[in-house]
Order: sequence, then C-alpha cells, then structure tokens
Amino acid sequence: MANKQPLLRMTGIHKAFPGVQALKDAEIEVLPGEVHVLLGENGAGKSTLMKILCGQYSADAGSVLFNDEEIRPTNPSEAERLGLVMIHQELNLVPGLTVAENIYLGHEPTRGGLINSDTMRQGSLELLRALRCDVDPNTQVSQLSVAQQQLVEIARALRRKARLLVMDEPTAALSDAEIEALFEVIRDLCRRGVPVIYISHRMKEIFAIGDRVTVMRDGRTVGTQEIEGTEVSELIRMMVGRTIAEQIPKREVPFGDVVLEVKDLALGGVLSPISFSLRSGEILGVAGLMGSGRTELARAIFGADPIDAGEIHVGGRALPGGDPAASIAAGLGFITEDRKQQGLVLQCSVVENITLTCLDDVASLGLLDLGAERNIGRHQVEKLHIQIASLDQEIVNLSGGNQQKVVLARWLAARCRVLLFDEPTRGIDVGAKVEIYELIGELVEQGVAIFLISSEMPELLGLADRVAVMHEGTLQAILPRAEATQVRIMELALAR
Ligand code: ADP
Ligand code: MG
Repeated sequence: MANKQPLLRMTGIHKAFPGVQALKDAEIEVLPGEVHVLLGENGAGKSTLMKILCGQYSADAGSVLFNDEEIRPTNPSEAERLGLVMIHQELNLVPGLTVAENIYLGHEPTRGGLINSDTMRQGSLELLRALRCDVDPNTQVSQLSVAQQQLVEIARALRRKARLLVMDEPTAALSDAEIEALFEVIRDLCRRGVPVIYISHRMKEIFAIGDRVTVMRDGRTVGTQEIEGTEVSELIRMMVGRTIAEQIPKREVPFGDVVLEVKDLALGGVLSPISFSLRSGEILGVAGLMGSGRTELARAIFGADPIDAGEIHVGGRALPGGDPAASIAAGLGFITEDRKQQGLVLQCSVVENITLTCLDDVASLGLLDLGAERNIGRHQVEKLHIQIASLDQEIVNLSGGNQQKVVLARWLAARCRVLLFDEPTRGIDVGAKVEIYELIGELVEQGVAIFLISSEMPELLGLADRVAVMHEGTLQAILPRAEATQVRIMELALAR
C-alpha cells in the first residue's frame, strides 16, 4: 500500500470560525481503497476538515488535490459531482419520503417527463442488496431503525457514484451486530477501490476496520501511521499529548457521614453476602473481571433486580429492595454501562432525557412545565459543557462522551447523594473521559459518594479512595488507596 499514489491530498488547511481557529495547517493523505481513520478528541477539527473536503465549508487557506487535480467545491452538490460524499453525524434523510425517494432525491429518473418510479425502485433494490439490507424501497424512512437509515444514506452515496466516502462517527447509535454489518459494507467499498475516511474514537473499531490513521489535535495534524503495529497508548498520546494517567485529577476531599450502607446483600448463585459502607465524598472503586458480579451488585443496590437477603441503607434510610423509584427518592443514582439500552431514551431530546428522573420538579399539577424543564436542562448543559446544537436535539445524534454527560446531567438534576457508576467512560474519547473524571471530582467535593465500577486500571488507581475487588460474586477485599496496586488488584480479581 505504501507505494500507491494518494487519491486525496489536503495540505495547509486553515479555517477560522468566529472566535475559534478550528484548523491550523491541517493535512491528510488518503490512498485508493484504504480505510483511513481520522482520530482526535472532540473539537480537534475532524468534522470541519471533512466538511471542507465535501464542500460544506470553504477553507481560509490550503490546497485540496483529488486525483492530482486541485479542487475547491463550494457546495456539497459540487463535491458530489466530483465523487466526494460525506455521511454526517446527524443523518440527512427526509423522514416523510420513501427509501427509494431518498436515494434518488434531486436526481429522480424520468421517462416522458414523469418520474419513473419503477427505475427508482429497481435501482434502490440493487443498491440495498449490495449493502445486504433487505428494506423495501417503498418503506417510509421514518419507519426505519437508525442502522437502516444509515444504510440508506450509504446506498444514496453509492448511487451518486462516490469515489471517496467520509463517515463521521457512524456507529454512535448502532448495536454490535449492526456495526459488524457496516464494516462488511466498508470492506466491500474498499475492495472496489473506494477509500473510506472513517471518523471515530472507538479504539476497538479503529483496530478492527482501519488501515491507516491520522491523528488530529487542536486543529492540527499530529501524524499519520499504519494501524497494524500501533499501540492504543501511542494513539492516545498523539491525541492528547499526555497519557491518561497524567490527566486524572484526584481531589482530596474530607469524608463525611456514611451515606450508603450495604449489609449481607445476597443474590442466589450470583452474589455471596456482601457488606461495605461508603461515606459522603468518598470514591469506592470496584474492580473485577467480566462476570465477577460487579454490575449485578450495582443493580441489586439500586433495586433494578430483587435481592434474596440483606439490607441497604441510604442516608440512614432503609431501602425496600427491588424498587428503583424508592432508591431514587432516597438519593441513589445509577449510571449504567450501556447508555443505549438502559441509560438514555435515544429518540427523545436532550432536555427530555435530562429531566427524566426529576419529573416531580418539572411536573406541577400533573402538567409538564415546559419552561421549568428547559431551565433545568439548560443549566445542566452549561454546567457540564455538553456540546449540542439545541436542547431539542435527539440524543441519538450525540457523540458517546456527550451522551454520557447527558446521563450524568440527569442524575445531577435529581440531586443524588450516592451515585453508582458502571463503566462510565467505556467507549468515549479521551478528552470526554477526562471531563467525566473532573465531574466526578466536582461531585465528591459536593459531598456525593461514588461507587465506581471500572475495568480501566488507571481510572481505578487514579480516582478511588478504596478499591473493592470482586471475584465470582464474592467481595474479595477492599484495599485502601495506598495498597491498591495493579498487581494486588489482579491477584484478588483472579483469586490467586
Ligand atoms: P471534531 O469533529 O473533531 O469534534 P469540529 O471540526 O466539529 O471538531 O470542531 C472544531 C472546532 O471548530 C471546535 O472548536 C468547534 O466548536 C468549532 N466549530 C465547528 N463548526 C463550527 C461552526 N459551524 N461555527 C463555529 N464553530 C465551529
Ligand atoms: Mg465531529
């Protein structure tokens, strides 16, 4: 691949928005038929660079060579005529039209002056089949799942004879199976020589699909390299310029009273009797291998699952067990691992998601007070630096880090005293991770107690005051910070 001539070469690209220098001398080179990952923290300039390529923005300076020709598309249609197609973070289909109408939008085939819907239908079928998508072209787009909509967008791109396809964080709303299907589509495209520029910050995906990666930071290109043989830690260093361990700000907070007390909590075959307590301002890290019962413990404490035996007290008040509403009322919050399935209502707006747990505050006399709802939503969005276009934006279109912040915002709005976190930074980029660590720091300063399940050792070692280690449903030990080393934790997790 190294001796191929680049199909695309962008150099010296500058772009300013009012108050922001979004790109400073950015560059990228893309080879025919490769999957080229574009990696960088939120705000690094990835989308802007690609929007310049695809005619949505014009650059202040710089050159774009495509097929050895200098190009400067001034709008997306012009870029498309050149074969440059971008699939945006926010999908761009018309929900009220059919799949076929969307695929041919603006380019409807005609016969005798009339739109030829047979050709449209047949053409759409063929395109969709190539994508292994069995949606009927006559279906209204509003009836489709997000994954199907994405395939329709890709079909539309193929119909427009894309010679280079840009996908901006395409998997944010997809399930694992849908992601695998999308990857097959991408591999097909590459086999046909169409390179794909793939914007993502999910390390697993980058290594699964990418050939080369270009890393951006603060509007600049840091470097490009082959993905094979590259370490995750190296990419992270390129993205942030520091290692993650250096960025975890541990705040020293005096502990207050015990706010969570768990006594002999047991769940047949899943959890052996577990006891511990947690003080206001304290962070208890929870380590263990997959299947060690960490999530089950959090769910049992929260009341998401019924328990067989034991007691749970929050702020001195006994919880009935198995009753999430009572837990929330007592001041317990639960931030789940799977934002898509448990945490967020993807088709609802940002503001609706934030106020979901504090409906008492916004619902007066049985009516939703939309003004109050928006005030709470706006306050949290500002406080947590959630990057959104509007409060009414659907959650599904946000990046993972921003989705996670919406989940956090929801619990903050509900004024929790104890927060149970289950892998809060899984699948989000490094910059957003650090922001979440900072939020956790702010929470403990406000006296919130934190139960933090994490599989990321630097996160546990960096944040926790004590580390509980689980193995096969048993709490092996609770290590004080000074004794919580990676080796000791692993020994306990493996029960060696
Ligand atoms: P990324 O896609 O890497 O997250 P972006 O290219 O979206 O980053 O943004 C780069 C910078 O430019 C950010 O500071 C962002 O706030 C800013 N920016 C992007 N688009 C606009 C716009 N239309 N108007 C003003 N600022 C923008
Ligand atoms: Mg972006």
